[in-house]
Amino acid sequence: MFFDTHTHLNDAKFDLDRGEILAALEAANVRQVVEIADAPADWEKAIALSRARPWVRCSLGLHPYHADDWQPELAKELLRKSSLPEVVACGEIGLDYAKAPATPAAQKRALDGMLHAAWEANLPVVIHCREAYMDLIPILKAFYEGKSPRGRFHGVVHCFSGTGEDAKACAGFGFALGVDGPITYPKTDALRIAIKSAGLDVVVMETDSPYLPPQSSRGKRNDPRAIPEIAEQLAWVFETSPHEVGRLTTRNARDLYRIDEQGRKSV
Ligand SMILES: [Zn+2]
Ligand SMILES: [Zn+2]
Repeated sequence: MFFDTHTHLNDAKFDLDRGEILAALEAANVRQVVEIADAPADWEKAIALSRARPWVRCSLGLHPYHADDWQPELAKELLRKSSLPEVVACGEIGLDYAKAPATPAAQKRALDGMLHAAWEANLPVVIHCREAYMDLIPILKAFYEGKSPRGRFHGVVHCFSGTGEDAKACAGFGFALGVDGPITYPKTDALRIAIKSAGLDVVVMETDSPYLPPQSSRGKRNDPRAIPEIAEQLAWVFETSPHEVGRLTTRNARDLYRIDEQGRKSV
């Protein structure tokens, strides 16, 4: 059975069939999902999606696209919401030098504020990073050095796209690596090698639905039913079975979000 650690099922692209997609996940063996809210305006919607669905939990963030919206009040809001049973993480937060309209300085300010807020709220973080590993790694290292994780991980670098060295650095200071559709593309050998060098013990699976469809559905809307295709690719990379990939990455995902198989928070 599988765990999709990163979805945006509240995206408008699912407005016509969200219920059907959620109902179809069991057949694809996807038994747990974490819904990611990119902006404070979406936090309540993510909590609502998770309410009365213990197998869906949520993460509240401030995507680097919205870095200019950072304000200290968000830290207080996160702290208040962190006690809800539905809220298991803070993110996505991070740096995006490819697409975000905010300047690198504004993005770093927002990231720093949210890292402090998440630590205070005792939540693991979901990090987004595009073309910014050279800045991200020293920031994470400085922030987490000397802090022991409350669970097995401080957080996850979602949609990991760095080098083997970046992968080992992130794993070294307590981060899991999120693997999604791009690992199935023919031209991503470097990514497969980087992920393999970090080891299956730090890998979690994600779809980033509706984005990043795997090879079999490129150009189409993605949804969590794509997880088995990612598991198959990881099985090939790590020379093991999709079943074993599912078992280990599900364990890693529960450790990451500090929840059990019923979606109950452990710390
Ligand atoms: Zn992202
Ligand atoms: Zn995302």
